[in-house]
Amino acid sequence: MIVFGSTGSIGVNALKLAILKNLHISALACGGNIKLLNKQIERFKPEFVCIKEAKDRHLVKHKNVFVGQEGLERILELSSDTLLLNAIVGFAGLKSTLKAHKLNKKIALANKESLVVAGEFLKGANLIPVDSEHSALNALLKERQNVKKLYVCASGGAFFKLKTKDLKSVKPSDALKHPNWSMGSKITIDSATMANKLFEIIEAYHLFNIKEIDAFIEPKSLLHALCEFQNGATSAYFSKPDMKLAIAEAIFDTHEFEILPPLDFVKLSHLKFHKISLKKYSLFTLKNALLNNPNLGVIINAANEVMVEKFLKQKCEFLDISKGVFKTLDHFGEPKIRELEEVFEYDRKVREYCENFSFIV
Ligand code: NDP
Ligand code: MG
Repeated sequence: MIVFGSTGSIGVNALKLAILKNLHISALACGGNIKLLNKQIERFKPEFVCIKEAKDRHLVKHKNVFVGQEGLERILELSSDTLLLNAIVGFAGLKSTLKAHKLNKKIALANKESLVVAGEFLKGANLIPVDSEHSALNALLKERQNVKKLYVCASGGAFFKLKTKDLKSVKPSDALKHPNWSMGSKITIDSATMANKLFEIIEAYHLFNIKEIDAFIEPKSLLHALCEFQNGATSAYFSKPDMKLAIAEAIFDTHEFEILPPLDFVKLSHLKFHKISLKKYSLFTLKNALLNNPNLGVIINAANEVMVEKFLKQKCEFLDISKGVFKTLDHFGEPKIRELEEVFEYDRKVREYCENFSFIV
């Protein structure tokens, strides 16, 4: 397996599973965490490694170090491995997904942003979702027809218990305290704003080719997804909230060995389900607009990435994330994207536009 984003939360979990099953790792790639990368190199002895910036090259303990996007794509060409786990965060993961698709590799896709911004250009790709809800839907939809509607479940993020008025003064350190999942900082903020669930709706649309998709909150993250059928039956997918299960489903061919202990339903205290409040999670109001025009994904994603970065650097407030996204959508209108190049062009223009917002903190 080739692992891009090996030093992140998904990457580290995937490598734990690789040890369990003695899976050969031909390549490791990361951004700037060279210390962890060196430990991984020592343990897995990959043929190729890639880092984000040339300035760190001398720190990497490997003979075959590639750099940047060009390096990632070169590794995809050189490695004979047919499976890529793409766990790079954000728009930065898109080109690797596209390249792996071009090379007919199987892609265990954690980088949901690839589908959010360019799902139309990944039709026919051999994608296996790593996202827990989509991994659940994949299992629920196997050998089933007459599907009426899909549901992905949300946790409500770090601020589920807060009132809308209290969101004004929250700090990055508060937003990063996810109650159920230990994830990278960007997706943890996306959970708190519900951008993550918005993205997962369009991710499900591209993966399963159905527009009847909704979401609700199950605060314990034990229920991941539901599938409603024409006959009135609904099937549900439960598991403990641990990404290793979804990653294992995506990277292994056999699924019979135990990854997690099963849930003991008798010992579970009651489960509760909640509607997603559109007042509190205003980004979720974009759900129908995004399903009606998936091209909006590139605008929303780029604006969101810039705003999340600003919030994490304390250059804006939490509620400015959604304000920034709405302001950007007003500015850019409804994009009509016909060529892949336009995805990169829009991403660049949106970032330029959002970088210039001035916020008073
Ligand atoms: P992290 O922030 O923990 O990890 C991101 C990884 O990407 C790190 O290895 C980082 O390297 C690397 N990276 C960042 N930018 C670049 C770049 N330009 N080139 C090469 N590598 C880069 O994120 P997560 O693991 O949490 O998430 C990864 C993806 O998986 C995201 O798209 C997220 O939405 C998705 N996902 C994550 C889940 C989770 O439980 N964590 C659940 C479902 C989906 P470094 O740290 O060395 O800079
Ligand atoms: Mg998810």
